Amino acid sequence: MSSVFIPKVIRKPTTHHACRWCAKRSLRKQMYKLRDGPVDWWFCNDEHALEWLDNRHKTYSINEMLRIEPRERDLNGKTIDQWVRDELSQANESDA
Ligand SMILES: [Zn+2]
Repeated sequence: MSSVFIPKVIRKPTTHHACRWCAKRSLRKQMYKLRDGPVDWWFCNDEHALEWLDNRHKTYSINEMLRIEPRERDLNGKTIDQWVRDELSQANESDA
């Protein structure tokens, strides 16, 4: 016997996605999709996709944060833009 749980009600495919950068949820058809190997990443627009691409390898902690599901991130009440900016200025200070 298979142990896979098959729900009686088949869930409709999600029509909303959270932006991988800013976590804003939008209708999938209005979003920008970035294909990275086998994975599709969703963004509000190409600008947010570029921010994500630009920043995700800048520091270890930014990389770690951007890996986390948007709704599970702990940004201390900051937006991702503010959080990344603060991370980068700290990284620059410790380089000096
Ligand atoms: Zn966004």
